[in-house]
Amino acid sequence: MSVRSNILAMSGYVPGEQLNDADIVKLNTNENPYPPSPMVFHAIREALTGDKLRKYPQPMGDHFRKAAGQVLGVDPDGILIGNGSDDLLTILTRTFVPEGGLIASPTPSYILYRNLAEIQGSRFETVRFDESWKLPSPWPIRGANLTFLPNPNSPSGTALTPAELERFMAEVAGPVVCDEAYGDFCDWNGLLLAKSSPNVIVTRSLSKSYSLAGIRFGFAVAQPQVVRQMLKVKDSYNCDVLSLAAATAAIEDQDYFRSVKAKIVATRGRMEVELSRLGFTVTPSTANFVWCRRSDRPLKPIAEELKARKILVRYMNYDGYDGLRISVGSDAEIDKLLAALAAIL
Ligand SMILES: *Cc1c(COP(=O)(O)O)cnc(C)c1O
Repeated sequence: MSVRSNILAMSGYVPGEQLNDADIVKLNTNENPYPPSPMVFHAIREALTGDKLRKYPQPMGDHFRKAAGQVLGVDPDGILIGNGSDDLLTILTRTFVPEGGLIASPTPSYILYRNLAEIQGSRFETVRFDESWKLPSPWPIRGANLTFLPNPNSPSGTALTPAELERFMAEVAGPVVCDEAYGDFCDWNGLLLAKSSPNVIVTRSLSKSYSLAGIRFGFAVAQPQVVRQMLKVKDSYNCDVLSLAAATAAIEDQDYFRSVKAKIVATRGRMEVELSRLGFTVTPSTANFVWCRRSDRPLKPIAEELKARKILVRYMNYDGYDGLRISVGSDAEIDKLLAALAAIL
């Protein structure tokens, strides 16, 4: 095959299992257990009227950018829309990283970053988080073309504090993508850093915090001069009429967002307490999932037994360091999870 050698050599990203039977308790890919805002359904129905589907969508998503700019207090010209935030991670890689260049990231974290480096034909270097999910200072990698920092991180759910974030950006002294796919569940973020430095790009997703994983919509926040360069890389119409309508309605309904976030934060607290009681070591989370480990028995069979009871959680294994990443579900789902775990253990 005359396929590029780096593509032949790579194995490809494997997404979490998507079994969608109605009776499955799905806690493996951090979807939101609550429906999107009622305004989203209204906006999609509205987008289906007249001849809106016959025409191309707004290439830059100007209505969305205006709404998001207002909610987040950022310049709409500093916002770039994406077909899910994964699309933006691809755009960023293609904008910043030459073939043979270098991508850096802490580990354990989001596995997709390595795949992006493999596709781009660049090198990939990682630095391990320490036991308490902190990073070494000074950051040891020099001269990366792009550094991915998921904050909050997956699978840990931990986040660098604002002071640690600022120090990290200064130490890297190059382009950093602050991947805030879970940023809406945390009480701080990197938006101010993105406003003040051309080296900081924040990416956000509507999949988790706005319950729109099925719609595929994310966005990046960066200085307008950076957005103008990324714009050359993105597909002209990377977001469609329906996803733009849904995303705009979702971000405009901040009251709904806040009520969903409060429910998730409350259930997350209960999971931390109850899972600890069942003997797990639980890392305090700033996201919509919790990372649990235990040393007295293997974790993979626990995930398999849960699956046999139609409860999906994500078993993760990073070169021998393993754990269960469990999404925050509804209270009823978490009751089922806890009862099943009590029976299994
Ligand atoms: C879920 C996730 C994404 C991707 O989100 P989409 O907007 O659904 O593409 C990006 N980064 C991290 C760390 C994630 O967990």
